Amino acid sequence: MGHQRDPRSPEQLREAGHAAVDWLADLLGRIDELPITAHVEPGAVRAALPDHPPEQPESFAQVLEDLDGIIVPGLTHWQHPGWFAFFPGNSSPPSVLGELLSAGLGVQGMSWATSPAATELESLVLDWLVELLGLPRTWRVDTGPGGGVILGTASEATHTSLVVAREQARARDAPTDDLVVYASVEAHSSVQKGARVAGFHHVRLLATTPDGGLDPAALAAAIAVDRAQGLVPTALVSCVGTTGRGALDPLDQLVPIARSEGLWHHVDAAWAGTMWICPELRHHTEVLGSVDSWVTNPHKYLFTNVDCTAFWVADRRPLLDAMSITPSYLRNETTDRDDVIDYRDWHVGLGRRFRSLKLWLVLRMFGAEQMRTILREHVRLARDLADRIEQHAGLELMGPSHWPLVCFRAVAGDDRTRAIAAAVNASESLAVTVAEDVDGHPYVRVSIGQANTGQADVDRLWAAITAA
Ligand code: PLP
Repeated sequence: MGHQRDPRSPEQLREAGHAAVDWLADLLGRIDELPITAHVEPGAVRAALPDHPPEQPESFAQVLEDLDGIIVPGLTHWQHPGWFAFFPGNSSPPSVLGELLSAGLGVQGMSWATSPAATELESLVLDWLVELLGLPRTWRVDTGPGGGVILGTASEATHTSLVVAREQARARDAPTDDLVVYASVEAHSSVQKGARVAGFHHVRLLATTPDGGLDPAALAAAIAVDRAQGLVPTALVSCVGTTGRGALDPLDQLVPIARSEGLWHHVDAAWAGTMWICPELRHHTEVLGSVDSWVTNPHKYLFTNVDCTAFWVADRRPLLDAMSITPSYLRNETTDRDDVIDYRDWHVGLGRRFRSLKLWLVLRMFGAEQMRTILREHVRLARDLADRIEQHAGLELMGPSHWPLVCFRAVAGDDRTRAIAAAVNASESLAVTVAEDVDGHPYVRVSIGQANTGQADVDRLWAAITAA
């Protein structure tokens, strides 16, 4: 198949491309028959492949053979409907098609001038998301001082946001060594990493209230202590939907503190933020107009395969001040125009893929209503599972959740909790995560959100839990 063809030829793409789509569609059609997690020893996949790159062209058929025989057995299947581990990492046919078109077009959207449609589609799709997620209108690039950009990961967005916070503080002559970042002890590790990479020496991970939200009193107290020591409170990262147990920081109480203390306020809504397409799953929208930046991951729970992070700033000026440098070879008649976006000025990287295509295809080919229906069904399934756990004498539910994440432990203790998770994961068709609370006690974390997960999958999960 295509062995003799020039790999640059469109005909090669046509022939092998049809075979690739058939192969993928077949695989996805039987994904629930595959073991959900990979059972390979470290190094086994590599050892099964040649040590040296080929001198002569190989056919696509040979590549498919290796995919079937070596690569797929070494994969963990996030698209399996029994996927309840971590968070969802959904792909979908529209997203796959968007990736394919983006790769095939192969454009570089670093500036408006290097591919105007890539820039304008990205800004439009992010403005659509502002509307769909109920975010402040002023974050739309067409109407407000703010605007959105697609990045690779939420971690990059948080890092970028902290760089802007640092630059703002430095513009006020604060020494970098004295700047302090605040977040809760349940914040994602990307906050610490982003702060470290941005050059912050002080990161305070503060206590939460019993529901897992950052305790506003702890924030106020920490700021007072730091000021008394001559340090400079600089940034707050709040979380909407923590990784561990889906907790919600009390933005309504944190926003006034951040405002009065002059903190840059970034909100990490990596997972839960996508669910804001359902109005009943939004929280504290009334104070959002007073935060500085916000991130969510369509690559978690909006049917768009990794990587696709949506990052907004309430005012794009400070971001551009921190990120834009225009060497002469990038200067052209549009670079200095205010009405033209050059996305290379919105992040660290220069070159950029046409990532908005896949999000555009997802939004168009699903339509908002269908996405809401799927998410609402997952919320219903999560409540149903939580009810069953609550009524089971041997299990203890860890608090209600705003979103479809159910956390529980065994009444009999830590060993039994771990044994339940191990038994579920041994089933080969279900995957859950064991996490630990701040005191080191394990709990089972069930994230319902794989695009094709339905009642039958949750029933299978429940049967495996109770059998254990
Ligand atoms: N923030 C939260 C709350 C998360 O749950 C995660 C990942 O699960 C991240 C950030 C990191 O996301 P990314 O992998 O896009 O950097």
